[in-house]
Amino acid sequence: MRVTLLGTGDTTGTPTVGCDCETCLLARERGLERTRFSVHVENERTGESLLIDASPDFRYQFLRDGVALPDAAIITHVHFDHLDGLGNVFRVLRDLTVYAADETDPVTGESVAETVANDYHYLDAVTVTPVTPLESVRICGFDVTLVPVDHPPLLCYGLAIVDPETGAKLSVTGDTSYAVPERSRAALADPDLLLADAIVPASLCASHPAGGRHEDEAGVPRTFGSKHMTREGALALADELGATRTRLVHLAHYYPAEEAFEAPLAVDGERYEL
Ligand SMILES: [Zn+2]
Ligand SMILES: [Zn+2]
Ligand SMILES: [Zn+2]
Repeated sequence: MRVTLLGTGDTTGTPTVGCDCETCLLARERGLERTRFSVHVENERTGESLLIDASPDFRYQFLRDGVALPDAAIITHVHFDHLDGLGNVFRVLRDLTVYAADETDPVTGESVAETVANDYHYLDAVTVTPVTPLESVRICGFDVTLVPVDHPPLLCYGLAIVDPETGAKLSVTGDTSYAVPERSRAALADPDLLLADAIVPASLCASHPAGGRHEDEAGVPRTFGSKHMTREGALALADELGATRTRLVHLAHYYPAEEAFEAPLAVDGERYEL
């Protein structure tokens, strides 16, 4: 399993358009970037590629990292930064099966699968296949399980991706607070590589109107506002899941410049062999 981090940023990316904060300046200076979230997972045995989320930066990411076009895709939730790149497949791919959860979201009245199908009904190349969370499905030769996470107000899913031949495992938290349900934690446990949402360091909760939540014993918030984990929350989750290796993703340019490019914070283009 070859994993390429196509997009490691939050919804505005780093550098952010029109921003001259120290973190964005340093990123430009060092030629580093965090485009909108997406991960490319290649199965070297079958020659197939699976795309996790369709970043608005899809075209640029595929050109930059030189990875194979996807044979299938998974959409974790219907936020702009994870879905709105799907239109890039027009006249690029003849056929793309897009997997998404089948549970009806009370907020939208539709499942993620239904929203994707409705939004892209005009694209013949897109075929949506609904899948039931916590049930494994075979995609590109991998056993893939969508796991419910906590990203209010919308339904959102993390992913466990296992190569049934080698046992290699990639877990992705998806956009989530620290309140990942127990059954989902069990499915995500013991990955060779964990990609965890860590939008900002916990210190920034003081500047969020809703503050932080899910404090640890020392009072450090593991959730920023209500939707995302703090860096500290993501690292705590990684520890609890027993991740062999962890990279933090979905990162905002609000990280102070001196912390923004320190391990284990990911940048675009990183590659892992599992
Ligand atoms: Zn900035
Ligand atoms: Zn989101
Ligand atoms: Zn997002």
